[in-house]
Amino acid sequence: MGKADLHTHTIASDGAFSAEELLEKAAKKKLKIISITDHDTIKGYLNGKEKAKELNIELIPGVEVSAVWKEREIHVLIYCFDENDEGFRKMLFNQKKARISRMKRIVNLLQKQGLDITMDEVRAEAGPGNVGRPHAAAVLIHKGYVASVAEAFIRYLSTEKLGNVKTEYVTVKELVVIAKEAGGVLSLAHPGPLYTKDEIDELTSLGLDGIECIHPSHNFNLQRTFSKIAARDNLLVTGGSDFHGKGKKDYDPYFGIVTLGDQHVMSLKRMARRRREIIKTD
Ligand code: AMP
Ligand code: ZN
Ligand code: FE
Ligand code: FE
Repeated sequence: MGKADLHTHTIASDGAFSAEELLEKAAKKKLKIISITDHDTIKGYLNGKEKAKELNIELIPGVEVSAVWKEREIHVLIYCFDENDEGFRKMLFNQKKARISRMKRIVNLLQKQGLDITMDEVRAEAGPGNVGRPHAAAVLIHKGYVASVAEAFIRYLSTEKLGNVKTEYVTVKELVVIAKEAGGVLSLAHPGPLYTKDEIDELTSLGLDGIECIHPSHNFNLQRTFSKIAARDNLLVTGGSDFHGKGKKDYDPYFGIVTLGDQHVMSLKRMARRRREIIKTD
């Protein structure tokens, strides 16, 4: 096997490259295992299948789901799900709708601050992909309100600036049930500085299978802290670069550098296999 990156984005959400382009780049970086984990859509993963075969890259089914936990929006990575599972597909469809209604609320808030921005403009930035705040940031850049995505977040789009915009995202509790019924394995995305240790315990007790210990936002100390929690609680270790392409300058240089050892991918696949067997015999 070899080096793995289990956290990447494409134009199916807020990434800059198509799945095919991303996989070409991965091959150049000598990555052997990739998961395309677009926000709330598996289109990126589905689009990458053929190319992955051609390049002899193992493509792990993946998606990064925005979920509600204690009135906060958190990110959960799901791997190895059955892509045809009806409940899973329905959840993703609802997430897509929730993204649109949330973005309408965000656009309204920006308009109230006197900014000239419309939902149509944001949707045009997203193209066929799922809408997200980076697309609103792109509109603000084109209109000259800000010079970069980072500035757009600092001045307008962060949770601090927007407040907790109401969302209809799935709750973590619901997500655990839906994902596991589809044979999926769940990992808490980039816990970084987002949660206290107690909060991580609370979250993993809801039924998450792993922690994303390896991520560009984690320094060695954080990586070690999370790996220790994973070892203590018998949780999977996942990781990746969170590569978005030119959209996210702070993480992009780590593509091919922040990687996960294949022994962790083996464990992940083993857990997924067992879950499938349990579902079959139920
Ligand atoms: P959303 O999907 O609408 O919640 O937007 C979240 C996405 O915006 C994340 O996945 C990141 O790709 C991006 N993002 C979040 N915070 C920042 C930031 N401070 N600077 C640039 N991009 C960010
Ligand atoms: Zn993103
Ligand atoms: Fe994320
Ligand atoms: Fe991500």
